[in-house]
Amino acid sequence: MKKHYNIPIFITHSGCKNNCVFCNQKIITGQPESSGEQDIRETIEKFIKIISSRIDGNSVGTEIAFFGGSFTGLERTQMLRFLKIANEYINENNIIKPEYSIKLIDKQLIITLSEEFEGCKTTINLYNLLGENLLELNVNSSNVSIDLSEFMVGLYFIKLDFGNSKIYFEKLIIN
Ligand code: SF4
Repeated sequence: MKKHYNIPIFITHSGCKNNCVFCNQKIITGQPESSGEQDIRETIEKFIKIISSRIDGNSVGTEIAFFGGSFTGLERTQMLRFLKIANEYINENNIIKPEYSIKLIDKQLIITLSEEFEGCKTTINLYNLLGENLLELNVNSSNVSIDLSEFMVGLYFIKLDFGNSKIYFEKLIIN
């Protein structure tokens, strides 16, 4: 069975202005205060050590996840500070995969990277089954749309190069 790891960061009740009776995050998380920046670093480093010792051929990736509050309800500068810390570890550790999604809608390839990649250089390549490089784009936005209407039906591979040796391949079927 494939193994996926989440590194949990608890931001106890932060970003939420409500107080629902069934949702006492201070008790549920066992952590009365939200994690601060130093707590986030210590938690990530602790879990990286644990996960590194368990990684094997069945491991499919590790993500950093924020729980116990409403992340998108955080004040924007705080949200970005937290994401920036997470991104430092994404860049420094091979075990953590950057968050992105790839969709093909009406032959428009939509690539959405998590917000911390905004302004960072990412190189996108498209290869066919013969390994021929059909397209190369350098982008520095977290939202990319590429017109693939000229491409034939078939199986392709997308390469995402985030720099710092972070390279990911994804399959793409154009039909
Ligand atoms: S996080 Fe959601 S469920 Fe919990 S108190 Fe806030 S609004 Fe209610």
